[in-house]
Amino acid sequence: MSTDQAAAAATSTRMIIGGDLAESADGRTFEVVEPHRGSVVATVPQGGAEDVDRAVAAAQAAFDGEWSRLAASDRGRLMLRFAQVVRDHEEELSQLESRQIGKPIGGARWEVGQVAKVLEFYAGATTKIHGSTIPVTRPGFDFTLREPIGVVGLIVPWNFPIMMAAWKVGPALAAGNTAILKPASYSPLTALRLGELALEAGLPAGVLNVVTGPGPVVGGAIAAHPGIGKVAFTGETATGQEIMRAAAANVKKVSLELGGKSPNIVFADADIEAFATTSPYSVFDNCGQDCCARSRIIVERSVHEKVVELFAAATEKVRVGDPSDPATEVGPLVSFRQRERVEAYVRSGREEGAELVTGGVRPTDPALAQGAYLMPAVFDNMAPDMTIAREEIFGPVVGIIPFDTEEEALRLANASPYGLSGSIWSRDIGRALRAAKALKSGVISVNCNNSVHVEAPFGGYKQSGIGRELGMEALELYTEVKNVFVDLG
Ligand code: NAP
Repeated sequence: MSTDQAAAAATSTRMIIGGDLAESADGRTFEVVEPHRGSVVATVPQGGAEDVDRAVAAAQAAFDGEWSRLAASDRGRLMLRFAQVVRDHEEELSQLESRQIGKPIGGARWEVGQVAKVLEFYAGATTKIHGSTIPVTRPGFDFTLREPIGVVGLIVPWNFPIMMAAWKVGPALAAGNTAILKPASYSPLTALRLGELALEAGLPAGVLNVVTGPGPVVGGAIAAHPGIGKVAFTGETATGQEIMRAAAANVKKVSLELGGKSPNIVFADADIEAFATTSPYSVFDNCGQDCCARSRIIVERSVHEKVVELFAAATEKVRVGDPSDPATEVGPLVSFRQRERVEAYVRSGREEGAELVTGGVRPTDPALAQGAYLMPAVFDNMAPDMTIAREEIFGPVVGIIPFDTEEEALRLANASPYGLSGSIWSRDIGRALRAAKALKSGVISVNCNNSVHVEAPFGGYKQSGIGRELGMEALELYTEVKNVFVDLG
């Protein structure tokens, strides 16, 4: 399907409630605007609390019905079919994802590929969810059961819209729950299509519902709903705090994947060329709208100048352009509002005394004039107390801080309320492992920038979140443990 066909197919979409394509209860809609050109791509139902009620009723009915009676292996087979249907629609989904948020098509294809992988991983996991037997003191037989929670709410952001949805849908369904997915308002199209594809793959009606609409209204209703036993959220830390408060109403289980301000620590003995040529992608990929963006480069003073020079040169080679062009590496920001936010951070960096080495301005290419573009910005001599060093910018901006000792590097790296990701560059494996142990972050890479593996746990320390997604760990977020004791005395 071409970009235009994908857009045409998406011009009007419906929510998925109980296996039906649904309008919002009050008939209201909102528009999805593509950031490359600023034009409307689709009109989508603007759901409300009543729609969440309808979705919860449908999800509960599905949970009480066929879904909970399926053998784990049959649930796994259905999920494998779901993964295959996603693979069959990979290009269509990639085009939609690219269009709605301005993600370069190459990145969108990678993202959709991850969705199929995640569903395949959790399809295989359905038959590996089990309890254990425990040698208790009293004469008897003690064992645990791992059971689904019931209806779960999944609230996702706009930066990796369909992948973030799959990270939650995969383990939630594998564990036997039914779900209500709430996509971000910038990016509802691929989530809605995912809901349709689940039905096409044969998942029973009501197992996966998709409700669109404003965060505080639809997301707020999910977080507070007494019929929902667990809410999984990815987004800003401040929103996560609101969700925790709302979820307290029925002591709902909560897992959170939140913001980050991740460090990239470069020791003098590292392969500086490898660092400088690959690391621009660790912060500018997805136009910096990545919770794992390594937005603070903490570099040993003896190689500071060389790192700045090589990193800035590599940044200037990053291809900024039309997301539909396969050669494009960085597209526009998600919206014009987001660009203004990021530009304000660039101004604050300059005003507070950091040195702008390259970027931070709108591109001069007239072909990009209608879009929310900003050239990747590199600041040198960023002080740890500057606003750009402390706050998550969520845009293409990185700052470089020099250090003198290993202890200082780790202190600087950990001086953040966030603790999501980070990289360590050194040829001394002892030092790299020491630093990996000392970093207060959930996902650490050594001599590379990779944060995400479907098979391995992902999540944050401190204000970056609660719980771990991906891997077998994610199943803990979607199961209850029941202990049973049989008295043999
Ligand atoms: P956001 O504004 O917090 O929104 C995330 C989701 O929550 C959206 O679906 C949003 O709906 C909804 N929402 C907004 N207000 C809500 C409320 N009061 N109650 C319930 N739901 C509400 O975050 P974002 O701007 O989409 O995403 C960027 C953030 O996500 C960054 O901070 C980034 O670091 C973080 N992130 C973290 C991870 C991770 O794994 N740790 C991964 C990706 C992104 P609307 O869109 O309708 O407002």
